[in-house]
Amino acid sequence: MLNKPAQSTKKLMDWYAVHKRDLPFRGIDNPYFTWVSEIMLQQTQVDTAVPYFNRFIKRFSTVCALANADQAEVLKYWEGLGYYRRAKHLHESAQRICHEMDGVFPSDLKTIESLKGVGRYIARAIHSIAFNQPSAAVDGNVLRVISRLTGFDQDVMKPKNARIIEDTVNTMIPHATPRDFTQALMELGATVCQKKPNCAVCPLQSECVAFRDNRQAELPVVVKNTKKTEKSFHVFVVKYADKVLLVKRPEVGLLANLYTFPQFEGQFDAAKNAFENSFNARVINHAHAFNIDHLFSHQVWHLSVHLIECADYAGLDLVSLTNFPYAIAKAHLNIIDQLKEI
Ligand code: SF4
Repeated sequence: MLNKPAQSTKKLMDWYAVHKRDLPFRGIDNPYFTWVSEIMLQQTQVDTAVPYFNRFIKRFSTVCALANADQAEVLKYWEGLGYYRRAKHLHESAQRICHEMDGVFPSDLKTIESLKGVGRYIARAIHSIAFNQPSAAVDGNVLRVISRLTGFDQDVMKPKNARIIEDTVNTMIPHATPRDFTQALMELGATVCQKKPNCAVCPLQSECVAFRDNRQAELPVVVKNTKKTEKSFHVFVVKYADKVLLVKRPEVGLLANLYTFPQFEGQFDAAKNAFENSFNARVINHAHAFNIDHLFSHQVWHLSVHLIECADYAGLDLVSLTNFPYAIAKAHLNIIDQLKEI
């Protein structure tokens, strides 16, 4: 807990008024925009998210414009951002808002939190930023700032400890301007109290326990226990003229409905046989190009990428990447990027 929360809040708000970044989703009184931006920022850095946000909002300017679009088009606008489930949930929730709520974004916290893909943090961020309500939105940035500020040395991954941080934030919220306060606290975490903090320019330095005790590197305490499953695949890049062979992933599961190059698990010869059987093709030449890893939240893919020459391309459904209308999985967009360099 803070000794003088109102004093810390005042310093934070004064700092924010001068130092806040100019972002396209700031200062716009539109809960739909706030929702889209918060979903995008969940797993993505601001600099990466901004152009995606601008393109997305230009095409899907209202919640009903998003609801009425095809999922394939929504995924295309998300292509490269990764964690595509976010886009699918956004689309499904937009349909619910458009068709069951007359297209009006809900303003009560419970309904916001009931939207698919909206968890505790995002619900409170929307409630606070879009509706100017005193809801404590605690994301990774806020966990870091408050842990250091108060010297909180318990594992913040545990919900009961995150709630203690939330309680501290609640003591700081100014009831006239919760919208600005929420963004100010996040902004401090994103730009000053980063993993390696810049305490010299921090407005809260004089009351920060971590700064006083030189414990910034120890806080916040994060105990990770997520062991990722490791999988290895051979990826077959079949290129003929200016076209390539892509396959659509199944409708459920990881990367559902997205497109990738054909990939198979196992030893190379078994993978090659599986490829030939799946596509009724005969490989006459192959060259290993490079290896690339892709990290998901609970899985790591080790991809061994091969350039493949087939005896005949007539039976293969090759496509041009230039105008390909569907979304390609980020793991394989990275392969396309590397192939350009070969
Ligand atoms: S003084 Fe340093 S550690 Fe403390 S809140 Fe500010 S930036 Fe973070």
